[in-house]
Amino acid sequence: MRIFVTGGAGFIGSAYVRHLLERTDDEITVFDALTYAGAWSNLDEVRHDPRLTLVQGSVADRAAVRQALPGHQAVVHLAAESHVDRSLLDADVFVRTNCDGTNVMCDIATQIGVDRFLHISTDEVYGSIEEGSFVETDGLQPRSPYSAAKAGADLIAMAYHETYELPVVITRSSNQFGPYQFPEKLIPFFVTTLLEGGKVPLYGDGLNVRDWLFVEDNCRGVQTVLNHGKVGEVYNIGAGNERTNREITDVILAALGKDESSVDYVEDRMGHDRRYSIATAKTEALGWAPSMTFEAAIEATIAWYVDHRAWWEPLRERVKNR
Ligand code: NAD
Repeated sequence: MRIFVTGGAGFIGSAYVRHLLERTDDEITVFDALTYAGAWSNLDEVRHDPRLTLVQGSVADRAAVRQALPGHQAVVHLAAESHVDRSLLDADVFVRTNCDGTNVMCDIATQIGVDRFLHISTDEVYGSIEEGSFVETDGLQPRSPYSAAKAGADLIAMAYHETYELPVVITRSSNQFGPYQFPEKLIPFFVTTLLEGGKVPLYGDGLNVRDWLFVEDNCRGVQTVLNHGKVGEVYNIGAGNERTNREITDVILAALGKDESSVDYVEDRMGHDRRYSIATAKTEALGWAPSMTFEAAIEATIAWYVDHRAWWEPLRERVKNR
């Protein structure tokens, strides 16, 4: 099969491409605009593979997508603006990439005809929940420009399924962590800040809860849904590792031999969702389950950042200069 992976030079996309090349015979085209968050070097470990083709282009650029997409049987659409804090400063690009870009991808995929269109979404589209967990049929109540633009993308993708029978499946996964995550996101930001001798800024009371999913487990989940998910359906992917930001901070401090004096409590993020939680029985019924414990995955992730300073140091400069 030839798979067209948008956003494959980013954090999750590059992990997914490595996963596919290691475990399948598929041929992969990565289509990526190479924004601040994407780089071909994230694929250095597999770049030599003749089954991998790299194309620079934007998902919102019809001509570029029309030229690159023919000949592929499946689309895995990850390309997005992905950082909530950035969406609070400038939402325009979030709507352009996440909504317009998804519309262009669905439209051209419909015209060309593909066997599968897997749209990658997030648990953030459901909004915040105090108790219990969201299931796939729950309504969408996004509360940040990022999650609203992702929710719009989900609705656009499903509309192409309903209207034109584009074979869409959607995954909604929880907060991920692992190697090659841009060091503006909580775990790599805190780890690299501490490695540089700085203090980590903890929002509000630090009690916001997220479910933390190791990126490799998400890749296995995405692959399960790509192969076995039912067209027109949504699948939640989460690990059941609910932790407060305070707990995550404590794990990182302990792993790096730091203490409370390395934490700065800062004003809370505007509209900060209190808790995300998703039920994952539907995806588990397809034969998927997370394979790594949170403790083992976070330990391996922190060790990766300790060992890969040359990868993240130039990226942190970009975050500082933003
Ligand atoms: P990322 O920001 O690390 O990577 C995004 C990639 O998309 C980059 O390579 C970037 O260059 C590319 N891109 C951005 N705009 C583009 C455009 N217009 N055209 C083509 N490529 C473009 O993001 P990520 O964390 O790897 O997230 C990937 C996907 O997974 C996103 O759709 C995101 O919403 C979703 N997701 C992420 C998480 C998480 O915890 N990181 C959780 C759930 C869902």
